Amino acid sequence: MMIKITCPSCGVDGSLSMLEPSYQGPYKCWKCRALFKIHLENSELKSCEPLSQEEFEKLQEIHALKTKFKKE
Ligand SMILES: [Zn+2]
Repeated sequence: MMIKITCPSCGVDGSLSMLEPSYQGPYKCWKCRALFKIHLENSELKSCEPLSQEEFEKLQEIHALKTKFKKE
């Protein structure tokens, strides 16, 4: 499924492809390249925190590991 996310920084709509309607992880705006940690529940944005590049990469790594682990 695709979930629509409105960038809190520039207001542009982006989308994220997701296996589940709940998600907690990194998000990068395609337009302004702002980095966020987002929390989605039932396809609704519950929280959104700005991240530094370093934090974003760390989170992305953790998320990739989790996703990999789930698949196996
Ligand atoms: Zn943006």
